[in-house]
Formats: sequence, structure tokens, C-alpha cells
Amino acid sequence: SAEIARPPLTVLLAAPRGFCAGVDRAIAIVRQAIRDNGAPVYVRHEIVHNRHVVDELKDLGAIFVEELDEVPDGGLVVFSAHGVPKEVPHEAKRRRLLYADATCPLVSKVHREVERHHKTGCTVLLIGHAGHPEVIGTMGQVPEGSVLLIETVEDAKTVVVPDAGRIAYSTQTTLSVADTADIVSALKARFPRLEGPRNEDICYATTNRQQAVAAIAPEADLVLIVGAPNSSNSKRLVEVALKAGSSRSELIQNEGEIDWAWFKDVRTVGLSAGASAPERLVDEVIAAIRDRFAVEIVERRISDENVFFRAPPTPRRPALV
Ligand code: SF4
Repeated sequence: SAEIARPPLTVLLAAPRGFCAGVDRAIAIVRQAIRDNGAPVYVRHEIVHNRHVVDELKDLGAIFVEELDEVPDGGLVVFSAHGVPKEVPHEAKRRRLLYADATCPLVSKVHREVERHHKTGCTVLLIGHAGHPEVIGTMGQVPEGSVLLIETVEDAKTVVVPDAGRIAYSTQTTLSVADTADIVSALKARFPRLEGPRNEDICYATTNRQQAVAAIAPEADLVLIVGAPNSSNSKRLVEVALKAGSSRSELIQNEGEIDWAWFKDVRTVGLSAGASAPERLVDEVIAAIRDRFAVEIVERRISDENVFFRAPPTPRRPALV
């Protein structure tokens, strides 16, 4: 039987993509805790927002919980890369739990910044998304009510502050660079004495992944982003692709979520992955595309990354005698 020729398709692969230094470190901390202490090791919240990562760590002996009261006495618990409110390590100490903090150092930096502003008497305006664990963690560095959340330009235009002369801003690390710039300028227009970081607190990985997607999107009829539906930086990549001119962009957790109808009339597909998505998932997407098309892969690298965060030593359970 004659084989039907597969139609040609160019895959533009964005680089950098996928795992960032904070995600690498967080996963290493959990693996190391299991290696040094044996299973189970408890992890408060998804260590990073990716089901595949979570499932692999479960197989090694990690148990995922939402709150510390689900960790039994004597347990060892790891806090996720997104960071935690201050009361979480306090509670862990009160309960004499062993804990390892996998908060990304770039998130911890924002925590210290918020604390510093609060100490100098400033009201902190935190630009971020309500309900995201990073936002909950960052707001939880200072007493309730001392941070006001700003989600939109509209919020920036209407927020009521106790003293317009004493305000500062910080941001979530995984926001849209463009949208955040709009919000910051709206705030600066209203509050000329606004203090804040020189740039936003958006991290290098978020910035690079957005720039890389923006670079391929104008040439791509479809842009696929591998990432989880609760991953902030991955969702932003879909928005960036659309803004940069791709007619369609879809967030997929893995190749199984591809709807092949999206490929109708598509000659060039862009592909990237959020900071919490393993490269294996990108390889699987490419393999699935290869099954159906004669693929030419072109990687577009816009920058090199050489950030590495060392994992701290794991706390050890006292030896049983
Ligand atoms: Fe850290 Fe940025 Fe990665 Fe978040 S996305 S874990 S802030 S490097």
C-alpha cells in the first residue's frame, strides 16, 4: 500500500525554554531529602506547578500536602519554590518538624524587599495575581493589611493608600513584562514618590522565555506552550505569543492534549515550555508532530542562561538508637 506523504511543517523551537534555576533547585532539594532521610518526605504544595514533576517525585516517596497539619509529628517537610508566608516556618518550628525551604532565591529576594519597605513605614503595593501561592507567600512576610494587591492598570488607578508619600511596589516574579510595565507607569503617574526595584521583580527566566516566544510568534501560525494550567509563567507565554502576532496559541500539559485540528493550514508551529515543564515533555510533543508531518526543526536562541542555585544541605532526621 502506498504510504501517504506527510505534509511539511517547520517547528520553531524557542530558547531559552523550560526549567529555570529555581525549579531545578527545588526538585533537587526534594530528591536530596528523600535520598538522605528515606521516604516519606512531605512537600507542602506542588513543589513546582507541573503534574509530571509531582508524579515523578511521588514515585520516589514524596507525599504532597496543602497544609502543615497534614504532616505527622516527626515528619520532614519541604516548602515549595513559590515561597510561603512567615507563619509556615513558624508553625513548623512550633511543631518541631524538620523542614527544608525550596523557595526560589529570587522569590526570597522579593520577600526581603517587601519586609524592608514595610520596616521603613511604606505601604507596599504588590503587583501580582490574587490567590497564586507566590503572592500569598509574599504578602505573608509582613502583617496582614500592610500589602495591597494590584492586579490591573485599573487597580493602579484606583488604589487608596494611607500616605501617598510613603509607598513602594514589588511584583510577582512570573508576570507579563509588558503588562507589568503598564501597571508600574500607571502607579508612577499617580505616586511620583513610589519606591521600587530598578526593574520589576520579574525574574530572568520569565523575561527570557517571554522574549524567546515573542521572537518566534510573528512567524508561527500556531504556538504551543508546554506547561500546567496553574503555572503563571506558562500562561503568560500564551498571552505573549498572541500579542506578538501568532494567530493561535495553546497551553498543553503534554502531547496528549494536542488537538490536531489546530494544525489545519499551519505551515510553521512555534514551541516553548514554561519554567516548570520538563524538556522530556517538549521532546514528546516533537515526536507526536513527527508522526504526522515531515518536520524541520529550527531552534531560535535569543540568549544563553547560566544561572545555577545550589541546593542547601537537607536537615537530617536524628538517628534512631
Ligand atoms: Fe525562580 Fe524565576 Fe524560576 Fe520562579 S520562574 S522559580 S522566580 S527562577
